[in-house]
Amino acid sequence: MSRVSFSDIKKMYGDVLAVEDVNIEIKDGEFVSLLGPSGSGKSTVLRMIAGLEDISSGEIKIGDRVINDIHPRDRGIAMVFQNYALYPHMTVRDNLSYGLKLTTDLSKDEVSSRVENAAEMLGIDDHLEKKPAGLSGGQQQRVATGRAIVREPEVFLMDEPLSNLDAKLKMHMRTELQRIHDELETTTVYVTHDQEEAMTMSDRIVILAEGHIQQIGTPDEIYNRPANLFVADFIGSPAMNFFDVRLEGAALVSEDFEYPLSKSTAETVRDSTTTSELTLGIRPEDLNIVDSPGERTIEVTVDVVEPVGSDNYIYAEVAGEEVTVRVPADVKPTVGETISMQFSEDDIHLFDTGTEQNVFAGTEHMASHVAESVS
Ligand code: ADP
Repeated sequence: MSRVSFSDIKKMYGDVLAVEDVNIEIKDGEFVSLLGPSGSGKSTVLRMIAGLEDISSGEIKIGDRVINDIHPRDRGIAMVFQNYALYPHMTVRDNLSYGLKLTTDLSKDEVSSRVENAAEMLGIDDHLEKKPAGLSGGQQQRVATGRAIVREPEVFLMDEPLSNLDAKLKMHMRTELQRIHDELETTTVYVTHDQEEAMTMSDRIVILAEGHIQQIGTPDEIYNRPANLFVADFIGSPAMNFFDVRLEGAALVSEDFEYPLSKSTAETVRDSTTTSELTLGIRPEDLNIVDSPGERTIEVTVDVVEPVGSDNYIYAEVAGEEVTVRVPADVKPTVGETISMQFSEDDIHLFDTGTEQNVFAGTEHMASHVAESVS
């Protein structure tokens, strides 16, 4: 187990800037996901830890050791790839032991014992004599994970390890990997573009966009206190709703509605930004349908009602903008109907429209943020 720290990491591929200003402190035993859209720089960061890419500038440490110039084999890392990269002509047992035999001087008995322990932990001990072609996708994934486990590394590096699995198996393997992490407590850096994976598995998430870190936080912080518009939009499904508003007196005024804020909230907002041009963000589950229009309601026209089992997603329109509302399954407005929506000041997020930075998050979010950091 070891901590991993990044100071001012930058990576250029020729003239192409891949990542810049990467500063992260990953604690001993922590499970940290690198999350972002395709091309945001996640794999580059992981591959620099692994030694598969040179570091253009800055320093990466594992424990107290700067690893920039250390041979990949001597870094104390083990990597699990998306495509498993198993040797097709070898049995599972040989796939698991091959790397150890090649790169360590462990005794035969020690190698067998590690292989058998890992196979048992992963529930593939009955398949040790089979070839990869005779295994299901989930079992192949387990062999790939087992190959990393037998190395007993200081750090696991995982690059989209579940992306080739179907939805059900993916969910199952998510819990498997969490169980393994709980058992081994090995520091893990996990690359994914799947927010659900990152949200359910990680102690903390690093969100990347266009080679820059947008936010580092626990899943709760990222969801409830997104640092900027990118994170607010990227995390959450369906995505957060956004409205262009102006702060006028103590009210948020848009083309289509006016929303009075409490005096204290208006003051807090004014203190944290110089602009009155704001973007109001509200998550679909924080919008409530009410019977009749009134103060603090927004009138919207229903476009689509999409049942998803436990809930309905309502896609509606206000002043040409789409709004998504998440309601219980028994609430089913008619398409074309005008409905009134209400939301609490405690649930709003406000962003400076120019800088895109968060300038206010309602007390609901503050409360859960505090609860998380205390626990
Ligand atoms: P992600 O893993 O988030 O999809 P990558 O780390 O693969 O992102 O890529 C980050 C950026 O670096 C992208 O702009 C990508 O096109 C560029 N890039 C990645 N690998 C190379 C390479 N070998 N040569 C040139 N550019 C690359």
